[in-house]
Amino acid sequence: MDGKGRSKSILEEVTEKTKALKAETGMQPGLAVVIVGSDPASQVYVGSKAKRAEECGFKSVKHELPAETSEADLLKIVDDLNKDDTIHGILVQLPLPKQIDDGKVIQAIDPDKDVDGFHLVNVGRIATGAADEAFVPCTPAGCMVMIRDMLGEDLSGLNAVIVGRSNIVGKPMAQLLLAANATVTIAHSRTKNLAAVCANADILVAAVGRPEMVTGDYVKEGAVVVDVGINRVDAPEKGMKEDGSPKTRLVGDVAYDEAAKKAKAITPVPGGVGPMTIGMLMANTLRSAYRAAGKEAPK
Ligand code: NDP
Repeated sequence: MDGKGRSKSILEEVTEKTKALKAETGMQPGLAVVIVGSDPASQVYVGSKAKRAEECGFKSVKHELPAETSEADLLKIVDDLNKDDTIHGILVQLPLPKQIDDGKVIQAIDPDKDVDGFHLVNVGRIATGAADEAFVPCTPAGCMVMIRDMLGEDLSGLNAVIVGRSNIVGKPMAQLLLAANATVTIAHSRTKNLAAVCANADILVAAVGRPEMVTGDYVKEGAVVVDVGINRVDAPEKGMKEDGSPKTRLVGDVAYDEAAKKAKAITPVPGGVGPMTIGMLMANTLRSAYRAAGKEAPK
């Protein structure tokens, strides 16, 4: 399953609908990204989100704050963005420095601008089957698009196993699959006989953070396998860096080659779930702008 290509088509659609909204109402979707500190990986994520937003025709605002920013100062910025009518999506890059309570900041975001889908109101909407009114967290939303591309809207009669129970991936993924009528199992670090549990899955989602943990024997013949994991591992075959350490490469939670032999469809890493996540963030922001304009939000 080509997440890169699928994400491109989503971004093209978002760009079209942004033009249509502007032409009809004069409104431009606005996305604000806030980053505290200079963690290199977070800087890359935030930079690419801001860039994509501009490419979609959005107003894009980036707040880069020093690592020593106080919780009160960050909450004030969130409050100002909540009140800013030109901003429809607010994204605070996690994790935040120690002196700031992540939860407090996320709950301070207006749920109607919470395009990451982490606010308790949105979590509750999804858990009570009202996902259409919610912002769905971008990674599980992207996984659902790819699963539906393969298997259709209704997953009745299919067994889905999700390995991982985090609030940002595993749990919302389970809710979405349940809402689509799959029979859902959530596995985690305390699950016994994990390989056997997974081998029963028509849909297998791995969101663990352990390189290539899901080997071929975890995969049922004909399963759809979605690999959320992003793990950097040493790749001495690519040569050495200037400091003498080996170069690295990205791998997923699934041993791709082994799993691909059995799966009906599988997402690669990189180029699978990662690009879909950013596509869904733009789709959520567009949806928020349509709602603010009093128009029916695009699906
Ligand atoms: P977390 O660390 O929050 O959760 C990992 C989950 O995996 C936990 O529920 C944990 O169980 C479970 N787990 C850990 N070890 C095992 C094991 N040996 N067997 C079974 N389950 C295990 O991770 P996230 O959900 O935030 O992320 C998961 C992966 O997805 C990471 O690689 C991350 O980088 C990637 N990711 C990718 C995104 C993308 O856009 N592609 C976006 C977000 C994340 P327990 O709860 O019992 O500890």
